[in-house]
Amino acid sequence: MSIVVVGSVALDSIETPSGRVAEVLGGSAAYFAVAASYFAPVNVVAVVGEDFPEEAKATLISPTINLDGLEVHPGRTFRWTGRYHENLNMRDTLDLQMNVVADFAPQLPEHYRQTPFVFLGNIDPGLQSRVLDQLAQPRLIGCDTISHWIENERPALEAVLKRVDVLIINNEEAQMISGEHNVVRAARQILTMGPKMLLVKRGEYGVLLFSPQSVFAVPAYPLEEVSDPTGAGDSFAGGFLGYLAESNDVSEAGLRKAIVYGSVVASFTVEDFSLRRLQSLTRDDIEQRYRLFVSLTKF
Ligand code: AMP
Repeated sequence: MSIVVVGSVALDSIETPSGRVAEVLGGSAAYFAVAASYFAPVNVVAVVGEDFPEEAKATLISPTINLDGLEVHPGRTFRWTGRYHENLNMRDTLDLQMNVVADFAPQLPEHYRQTPFVFLGNIDPGLQSRVLDQLAQPRLIGCDTISHWIENERPALEAVLKRVDVLIINNEEAQMISGEHNVVRAARQILTMGPKMLLVKRGEYGVLLFSPQSVFAVPAYPLEEVSDPTGAGDSFAGGFLGYLAESNDVSEAGLRKAIVYGSVVASFTVEDFSLRRLQSLTRDDIEQRYRLFVSLTKF
């Protein structure tokens, strides 16, 4: 089964305690697409400017990534600059340039419209809804958002939340949406707003899945060194939805397995800057770490 992703394709400049990089490939759709492509075919919906480097585009070229919906518009590509604190769970956005994304009104290619699995990456919630309007009858819709949209586009965000199956956000975003500090109370509140399930990403502490009936917890894979946490959330979502699309099993057991695959893929992403580590994986690398992950949590 295939997946459609809408999100940003960006040029990121990032500083972490391990180093810094300038104008490297990033964006939620880029991380998601490469992560999910290890499991299932991915149809990308995004926009870049005429300055988008060939080298960055080459990273996205794969037999399982369809770029027909990657539009090139006159102007500059979306840019994000971020700096991480010593505690890598915290980062500051130093600069955000919407550029060509500001006027983007995605028009899905005809052959994308029957895609069963959907991921709405962290773009303007109005654009997320516009993509959903163009899809026939998705089987499962995953959605992410970011503090910028929670603060600035609340009504549009609430509208899209009513339509999603799984909301995938971090602890801080869960607090901002719900106004609750306690993660369990935050989850209960968010589940009344529309999503059938909520996945809360808690950095090095792992992930919690909330549904009205249950809670499931998975730790993060313990790594000795984290170089750059950027894109961990999007590649988690890529591994998660990628596995669901591959297995076509959206039962509680299937979702739990998918969370472990998501955690495994994210653990590779953070080992290097940008998509360097993520793009160099084989399915065998993923399976090996999956087995280690299972043995780590078995008792
Ligand atoms: P994550 O680390 O998973 O939260 O995702 C980071 C990616 O999101 C970076 O590669 C950025 O280019 C992108 N990003 C940051 N802010 C925004 C925004 N407001 N809209 C769309 N993409 C963004």
